[in-house]
Amino acid sequence: MRSKTLVVMLFVAAVGATLLFRRPYNGEAGGSWTFRRYMDGLADFRDSVSAVLADTLEVRTACVGEGGTLGGLLFKTGVEGSRYLDCCDIFMDSLGWTSVRVGDTLESVYTRGRLSRVLGRPRNGRGCYSIDFDSTGTPVGWGWVPEENYRRLRAVVLEVESTVWESIAGNGVPGDLTPTGRVVTARDSVRRVAYIKNFENNLANKLFVYDIDFYYDVRPGDSIWVLLEEIRYPASNETSFGRIIAAKYVFSLGGMTEALPFFHAAEPPAPSGTVVLLDYYHGNGASLRTMFLKMPVPFGRISSPYSDARMHPVLGYTRVHRGIDYAAPMGTEIYAVGDGVITFRGWSGGYGNIVRIRHANGYETGYGHMSRFARGQEVGTHVRQGDVIGYVGSTGLSTGPHVHFEMKKNGAYVNPSSEIVPPADPLEGEELELFLAQLSVLEEIWNRMTGGNLPMSRGEEVSAEGE
Ligand SMILES: [Zn+2]
Repeated sequence: MRSKTLVVMLFVAAVGATLLFRRPYNGEAGGSWTFRRYMDGLADFRDSVSAVLADTLEVRTACVGEGGTLGGLLFKTGVEGSRYLDCCDIFMDSLGWTSVRVGDTLESVYTRGRLSRVLGRPRNGRGCYSIDFDSTGTPVGWGWVPEENYRRLRAVVLEVESTVWESIAGNGVPGDLTPTGRVVTARDSVRRVAYIKNFENNLANKLFVYDIDFYYDVRPGDSIWVLLEEIRYPASNETSFGRIIAAKYVFSLGGMTEALPFFHAAEPPAPSGTVVLLDYYHGNGASLRTMFLKMPVPFGRISSPYSDARMHPVLGYTRVHRGIDYAAPMGTEIYAVGDGVITFRGWSGGYGNIVRIRHANGYETGYGHMSRFARGQEVGTHVRQGDVIGYVGSTGLSTGPHVHFEMKKNGAYVNPSSEIVPPADPLEGEELELFLAQLSVLEEIWNRMTGGNLPMSRGEEVSAEGE
């Protein structure tokens, strides 16, 4: 219990701190900023040591002009002999700084007259390559030192008019990326495209890849609610896309899909108090990575497996059976095995009453021989994994109550039992409690950031499941 409280506190600290650090941003076009300071204890320590040594430090700087070389930079800042060769080796072979460009700079730091450090700064590189020397002039450590940055949370609401890309371009790009709201230079344009690409990729190809088909399911009037993290680089005055903390996709035809984070305290050797985002879940703790249920009925036995050839019991001749038959009592509920959209609902020859559903990633499923359909659904209705879509029957070419379950991928029949993705474990017990505790904090913050309009779905789900 204590550890649970602790982790919630850490989470509150991580998300809440961004709000406490709200302060006016004095720079480009208005608005207030929410910052989380990226604390690097080591850098702080180095800074204070540097301050003490300041009067004994000398820094020589050189900048690459047309036709400049790394060797030229080293030479200009007084790096010679074996240290010159060491620097060339380390920069090029170990650190991969193989070519310098106009605008790159090099700093050689001398402590009491001896070379102690060489810093290579690629222009717009958001950090620098660093090589440290001991008192004998031997290189003792090197690496990439990222530029100090800030993280901020931003709540974005996208109204879909045509494509997700268009809606991000219309509302999802931060103002400081395009200060006047228009693309000013080629560089702005490149940053803008990169930002939109990252945003769209995280949303469509990572978070909702199993839940939403972004080719078919997106309709004008849908809305997307995203809580995202942006990275701000004060030195270069730039903003870049960080990661999506949480997202909700609200369908205009009804229904909603959510991707909600589960945070956890990081294990050592991470600094204590570090919080990591473990994975994303639906509001009830089910993993986002669960694409299909194992079968479309709550209980049932396979009366006829998928096969390429068998004797058909009614027609009396050999015929492929491109599906799985689950025998179950008349009237048993039939579930949608995954999130999707109903594309057919009616009578279809030997299938009798059948419902067909289109899912993400080119999958379709069909459920035949139903005695009746679920109420309140029609072609175009979004169904969630586990929603009842009909009831077991024996309509069409059928010898007894069963559901004929079939699956297609990109238009071709596939064996459902080999296509069914094993579901990732849902959150349960203490973890589920912790997730829900974090979620109530997160949704409260998120709701405040959206002016109290955040769509919520968990209440309904919980009560529906409690019955
Ligand atoms: Zn069948």
